Parts: sequence; structure tokens; C-alpha cells
Amino acid sequence: MATIGFIGLGNMGAPMAANLMKAQHKVTGYDVVAGPVSTLELQGGKGAANAAEAAAAGDIVVTMLPAGPQVRAVYLGPNGIIAKAKKGALLIDCSTIDVETARLVSEEAKKAGLEMLDAPVSGGVMGAQAGTLTFMVGGTEAAFAKGRPILANMGRTIVHAGPAGNGQIAKICNNMMLAVSMIGVCEGFALAEKLGLPSQTLWDICSTSTSQCWAMTNYCPMPGPVPAAPSNRGYPAGFTAANMLKDLRLSQAAAGQAAAATPMGAAAANLYQLFVDGGKGALDFSAIMQMVRRHGNAG
Ligand code: NAD
Repeated sequence: MATIGFIGLGNMGAPMAANLMKAQHKVTGYDVVAGPVSTLELQGGKGAANAAEAAAAGDIVVTMLPAGPQVRAVYLGPNGIIAKAKKGALLIDCSTIDVETARLVSEEAKKAGLEMLDAPVSGGVMGAQAGTLTFMVGGTEAAFAKGRPILANMGRTIVHAGPAGNGQIAKICNNMMLAVSMIGVCEGFALAEKLGLPSQTLWDICSTSTSQCWAMTNYCPMPGPVPAAPSNRGYPAGFTAANMLKDLRLSQAAAGQAAAATPMGAAAANLYQLFVDGGKGALDFSAIMQMVRRHGNAG
């Protein structure tokens, strides 16, 4: 049993913290919003009044925050995690953020004598609830060995991707590929609809053909073929279109810095930008089907 400080109890963080408690760890949680802290207390955890208090309470400190600016705000500065964590604590940031921030914060932790992992996840809210997330982890071998058993309480697949920041590289590449495949599936189903082929027939054929991919088989954006998918419930998030856009911006920025050509990633970023600008950012990212279908029908 470990003592764990958990900061950021949102869609992902709340079920992840709950799984740590189910595994008998002592969790002290904090979020800027009060509701999730009260829920954590009802589940047997301890609420903290601020991030510093949660950080000081754990041998392990886990964060699950929206993006790089929040990670910098929570980790750095006189009341940040790095200043307030226990001597010898392991810091694990599970947020999806820019590689630069991940490396900067890890370097600052190292200067303070603390080990740190960047450990972004794949698997969404359903994976967080079920404890089946995939963790892609950057950091030293020693820090990975220490963090792995804790991550195993929240996920099923835990991969060491290399030094600090490499977890974030894997994550932004994964999400860029996911966005491109999601839009591809949307276009295929919208075209088939226009041409008169039922969605179920297309799915039956393509889910065992060469266009098969996770976006189609597990998360089909066209209502009908995959009953558990958000498309059958009005596209509640899940993983929001706004967060997908955030991740596409991260991969585009990284591609620019590395002079890598990612034209499909750029196209996906533009399409998600249009969708979010249309006021749909809070919907699940698979809801981009609505935009593709509307334009298809209008065309
Ligand atoms: P969320 O917005 O639901 O949760 C973030 C939480 O952090 C919120 O509760 C917010 O109040 C809290 N927060 C913000 N600033 C804070 C601060 N300074 N101190 C303490 N708490 C603060 O987001 P989420 O869906 O849980 O995603 C979290 C991260 O995980 C993001 O980086 C996202 O890209 C990534 N991610 C999400 C999913 C998904 O399906 N939702 C999947 C994989 C990865």
C-alpha cells in the first residue's frame, strides 16, 4: 500500500484515483473544482485544500490535468508539487501535454532530487473506469520500475518509451493517427450513406476488411453498428473534440519543430478546428461525423 497525492480529478482523474483506492492505496486528492474532491472523500479518500497539501501527502504524486500550462502551474513555483513533495517521492504526470513542458518539469524535479515520469494514457474514460488504460511512459529505468506497480492499478498495458518526454511523443503521434482514422471512417460511412449502402452492411464488410481500425470497430462514429459507441447516445464525451484539437495542435507544433511532414495531421487539425469553432468542442471527438455527414448531404 502506498500513500498517493492525486491532483486533477476530472473525467479521467476521478476514476483513476478511484481505482487506486480500490487497490487499497491511501489517496489524498485535490481539484480546483470542489465537487470531485467531495466524491473522492465519499469513496474513502482524503480531500486536500490545495495542490501543495496533496503533493506533501504522497510517496507518489499523480497528476491528471488538462494541458501544459496547468502542469507548469501545479508543478513549478514556491507552492508547486516539486517544492512541496516529500523527499524521495515519485512524481507521475498522466496529462497529455507538450514534450517541451514534460522535459522542463522533469528537469526541475531532477534538480530538486525527485524522480519523475511522463505517463500519458490511451483508452478514454471507459478505460479509466475499467482500469484498462494503456500508459506510455517517459523517464529513467529506475523511476519506471518504481512507478510501474502503481500504474498497473489503473491500466493494463504499461510501456516504457524511453527518457523523459518520450511518453508524450508516443501519445501525440497516437492521437494524430486516431484523428486521421476517425475522419476517414466518417467520410467512408457518409459516402456509403449517400450512395445508398446501409451503415450496418458497410460495417459488417469493412470491420473485417483492410479499412478495419479502432475508430470503426470499437467506436464507430455512425450511429448503429457499435451499440456502446457515443454515436448512439448523442455523442457525449468520452474524449472531447476540444481535447482532440488540443492534441492535434501539440502534434502539429512538434512536427513544425522537427520539420516533419504531416499533411493528413494538418488536415485533421483544420477539420477539428472548424468543428470546435462551430460550438461542438464539448461533444465526443467522434461527433465530427455530424459535420462530415452534413457537408456530404449538402454537397
Ligand atoms: P478534465 O478537464 O475532465 O479534467 C481535468 C481536471 O483538472 C479538471 O477536473 C480540472 O478542474 C482540474 N484542474 C485544472 N487545473 C487545475 C489545477 N491548477 N489544480 C488542480 N486541478 C486542476 O480532463 P480529462 O478528460 O480528465 O483529461 C485530462 C488529461 O488527460 C488531458 O490532458 C487529456 O488530453 C488527457 N486524456 C483524456 C482522455 C479522455 O478520454 N478524456 C483520454 C486520454 C487522455
